[in-house]
Amino acid sequence: MQKRFGDNIVLNDLNFEVAKGERVTLIGPSGSGKTTILRLVMTLEEATDGYIYIDGEPLTHELRGGKRVELKEKHKNDVRKRIGMVFQQFNLFPNMTVMENIIEAPVHVLKTPKDAAKRRALELLDQVGLADKADAHPMQLSGGQQQRVAIARALAMDPEILLLDEVTSALDPEIVGEVLSILRDVAKTTDITMLIVTHEMQFARDVSNRVLMFDGGKIVEEASPEVMFTQPKQQRTQEFLSAVL
Ligand code: ADP
Repeated sequence: MQKRFGDNIVLNDLNFEVAKGERVTLIGPSGSGKTTILRLVMTLEEATDGYIYIDGEPLTHELRGGKRVELKEKHKNDVRKRIGMVFQQFNLFPNMTVMENIIEAPVHVLKTPKDAAKRRALELLDQVGLADKADAHPMQLSGGQQQRVAIARALAMDPEILLLDEVTSALDPEIVGEVLSILRDVAKTTDITMLIVTHEMQFARDVSNRVLMFDGGKIVEEASPEVMFTQPKQQRTQEFLSAVL
């Protein structure tokens, strides 16, 4: 798979698989292409060459009669429903309440009846410790609370795949822990496949089954968290980890 922005080849010859239920963390220096990978899976970007498959289903393009063919919007939307994403900047709808934020996609995309969507939203709010904030607007919440709502909103779609893009990078250090502990719980209690970009190496170590080290749009090393964080083989990984750990 290749991704180019203009002349800038951001991901080149990239080829990796993630098994169902696996939790894979992408690490590496800024600009190495980690966020672009999550955005490609979320279909917020499209590969300029090659293919991405979700459970055997092509995501945006497929090879048909020797040609690379773009798939219909309806197909892309159907695949997109199976994927949830939490962003660094929360991205809640500012003009909606917490409850409205959470039920928006289940009601409008999945066509879940509003009552059922609300019941599920309350369960999720309870799970993220915000049961009393259903009627609040995002502006009235702290960054950590907003991020917990964003996690509840992503889970409300019952995603098969959850993409986490530096979800604690915009938070004050003292509230990073509350968000990570919710995600540790999600990792422990569900079989959602997770692709994680994070600078929180202890978190990566706790939740991932596998860690991929990126540099310059390529995987330079791939290992279990135990091996990656204690005895990385590549010099590039050793340099990167000694700078961030
Ligand atoms: P990382 O997440 O590892 O920091 P990114 O995936 O954000 O890296 O970025 C990889 C490269 O792609 C960078 O050089 C960045 O400038 C470039 N890039 C990312 N998004 C865009 C875009 N929308 N337009 C142009 N260049 C982009």
